[in-house]
Amino acid sequence: MSSSSSTSPTGDAVTLRRNRILSSKLYFDVPLSKVPLIYSSAYDISFLGIEKLHPFDSSKWGRVCRFLIVEGVLDKNGIVEPLEASKDDLLVVHSESYLSSLKSSPNVAMIIEVPPVALFPNCLVQQKVLFPFRKQVGGTILAAKLAKEQGWAINVGGGFHHCSSEKGGGFCAYADISLCIHYAFVRLNVSRVMIIDLDAHQGNGHEMDFSNDSRVYILDMYNPGIYPFDYEARRYIDQKVEVVSGTTTNEYLRKLDEALELAGQKFDPELVVYNAGTDILDGDPLGRLKISPDGITARDEKVFMFARERNAPLVMLTSGGYTKTSARVIADSIVNLSKKCLIDFHRSR
Ligand SMILES: [Zn+2]
Repeated sequence: MSSSSSTSPTGDAVTLRRNRILSSKLYFDVPLSKVPLIYSSAYDISFLGIEKLHPFDSSKWGRVCRFLIVEGVLDKNGIVEPLEASKDDLLVVHSESYLSSLKSSPNVAMIIEVPPVALFPNCLVQQKVLFPFRKQVGGTILAAKLAKEQGWAINVGGGFHHCSSEKGGGFCAYADISLCIHYAFVRLNVSRVMIIDLDAHQGNGHEMDFSNDSRVYILDMYNPGIYPFDYEARRYIDQKVEVVSGTTTNEYLRKLDEALELAGQKFDPELVVYNAGTDILDGDPLGRLKISPDGITARDEKVFMFARERNAPLVMLTSGGYTKTSARVIADSIVNLSKKCLIDFHRSR
C-alpha cells in the first residue's frame, strides 16, 4: 500500500478538501425545464487554426448537440450550461504545483500533444485551451448532481481519464473524473462509485487517484497495445478487460456482456461514471479497434441497462474519439437511448 500524501490525505487535508467542495458554486440548482444534458459552446476549441494539427475534431462537442437538435430529440433551451471549474475547485484533487505547471505553455503543449502551443503566450493558452477544458470539468462535476436527481446525465465533453492529481497527459489537463467523484462523496452522500471506462485507452489518471480507495470500483476495458502503457496504474484496476488491436464488434460486445455481469456481482454502485470514448470505432487512428457505429450504440445501451437494473444514477462522458464521424456516432447512440426509454428528453419538448 502506498503512503504518499495524495492517496492517503491527512486529517487536515480531508477537512480542507471537504470545505472546498462545500463552498463550490459548481453544484447549482437546475430548473425542471432543462434536461440533464450538459454542454456549453465554450467547450469547443479553436485556436488560430492550429487545432487542425491534432488528429482531433476539436468541435465534436458542439456537433453532437447540433445533430440532436436537428433530429428533434433535444431543444436548444433544454441544455444545461455548466460553470467553469475555479482554482479552488481544481485544488480538491490537484496540487498547487501541478496547477502552476500549467502556466508554462511548453508544458501544456506536451500534455495536449500539440507542439506549436509551446510558442504561444500562456494567457492565450489559458483562454483558448485551458478555459474550454475547465468548462468541461465543471460539466462533469455537475453531471453527478443531475444524475442523482434525474437518474442520468450526459456531459457532452469531459472524460479526461489520463490526468491524475499530479500529472497530465494524452490531451487531458484536468482530472475531471476524480473531481466528479470526490464531489459526489461529499455533496451527494455517495460512498460506492463504479467507473466503467470503455474508451480505447487505459484510464490511468483515475486509476492512480483512487489506487487505495475501496469506495471506487474500476472496470476498464482497453487496448493494451496503445498509449499510455501505464503498468503501475494497471495494478489499481479492479476489473481489467484487455481488447487487442483489431478486435471486432461481436467479440467486443461479448466481452462487455461478461464484464458487466461480473462487475454487477462484485460491486453494488450508488453512482456509475461511464467514460464512453468513441475511439474504439473502426478506422480510429489511435484506438486501433474495429467496432462498428452500431456496436457503439449497443455498447452504450448495455451500460445504461446495467445502471437502470441496479437503480444507480449514471453519468456519461464522451471522452476520446475525434474522427470526423465521432460526433454523428455519439448523437445516434443518444437518440437510440432515448428511443429505448433509457433516457428521457420529454421536459424539453
Ligand atoms: Zn482514448
